[in-house]
Order: sequence, then C-alpha cells, then structure tokens
Amino acid sequence: MITCRQASLLVSKSLDAVLTSAERAALDEHARHCPRCVHEARKLEEIHRACREWADESLSDAGRAVLPADCRQRLQARLAAALQG
Ligand SMILES: [Zn+2]
Repeated sequence: MITCRQASLLVSKSLDAVLTSAERAALDEHARHCPRCVHEARKLEEIHRACREWADESLSDAGRAVLPADCRQRLQARLAAALQG
C-alpha cells in the first residue's frame, strides 16, 4: 500500500492531470484505509477550485498564469504539514 505522502502527491497530481489507472487504483486503495487522506483530499480539491475560480474572475492573463502554480505549491506544503502533524 502507498504511504500518506505518496497519496497526497497523487491527489495533488489529480488536480492538474489525469491519473493512470494504476495511480487511481493505488489512491482508491489508500483511501479505503485512511479517512484522514480522504478528508485532506476533499479540502485540497475545494481550496484548489476556489483558487481557480478566484483567478478566473479577478486576474489578468499574466496573473492567471502565475497564481495557480503558486497556489498549488502553498496547498501542497499545507497538505504535507497536515499529514505529518
Ligand atoms: Zn493516508
């Protein structure tokens, strides 16, 4: 089984790209045993969506290109900290 850290990386990847079937299966398997990761994934998806909506509504094209990456890094750091804590 994958670790919480690996699961968080897959969750983060799934926000930007399609997971392979093996990755998706590994994440689903982990989620069955780890409610904390399911909870963190939901929070991450919510925040990520909010960031994107905010970027779409209020920023110039240049800002739009920059913000999602920065936002994602912050979210990943926060998620990693939450999983360790
Ligand atoms: Zn976990």
